[in-house]
Amino acid sequence: MMLEPLYQVTEKCGYCETEFRTSKVRSSFKKSAYTDTDFFCQFKTINPDHYVVAVCPFCGYAFTENFSQGLSPEFRTRFELTVRKNWQGVDYSGERNWEDALKSYKLALLCAQIKQEKERVVAGLLHHIAWLYREKGDTEQERRFLTLALEEYIKVYEVEGISVNNARLMYLLGELNRRLGQYNEAIRWFDRVVNDKKIIDSAMIRASRDQWAATRQDMQDQLENSGHKETGHV
Ligand SMILES: [Zn+2]
Repeated sequence: MMLEPLYQVTEKCGYCETEFRTSKVRSSFKKSAYTDTDFFCQFKTINPDHYVVAVCPFCGYAFTENFSQGLSPEFRTRFELTVRKNWQGVDYSGERNWEDALKSYKLALLCAQIKQEKERVVAGLLHHIAWLYREKGDTEQERRFLTLALEEYIKVYEVEGISVNNARLMYLLGELNRRLGQYNEAIRWFDRVVNDKKIIDSAMIRASRDQWAATRQDMQDQLENSGHKETGHV
């Protein structure tokens, strides 16, 4: 018998406390074809990222395993008014297409924002939404969500600082700046990873060196392009 890529697990809703089913991807099907410089994974067959968010079909509360436990009375009131009241009872338990995945992430983002989840959780959701748009080839929306993710990752850095081993975060701050064309900022972050003696994460130091070089190339290309435009005018 052939194994199906999806299997179901039972989750309990943090808001209405009802149990419901949601799908996960079997690990034998999680085959990544390649990983992008900001850790976006392209998968060969089914994308396990599409199944990260659990959505309660009874009230619309959407969450990931990174969400904190417990809901404040303030959250309950706001969730009731913004999500539950308008909830149409959509069922996300089975197979998800791209649109379903996007809707599940946007719902989780809304819940995380009204719940005032940690910056790291919100940043991760925004970054994943940007990746979904990359998957679809929608560069305008991808940039919009990369910008929002970058703003949130900066807050993470401000809260956590360099005390914890944050080489990966600092690298990401450089790479998202590079992708958004903010080259001087990108260089500044890559420089810090490469030159900070406290950082011992060799993979991130190497990646920062590579992307530092990529940024210099981007700057060069930009200069040449603007040069061409000027000549075009004359
Ligand atoms: Zn619920």
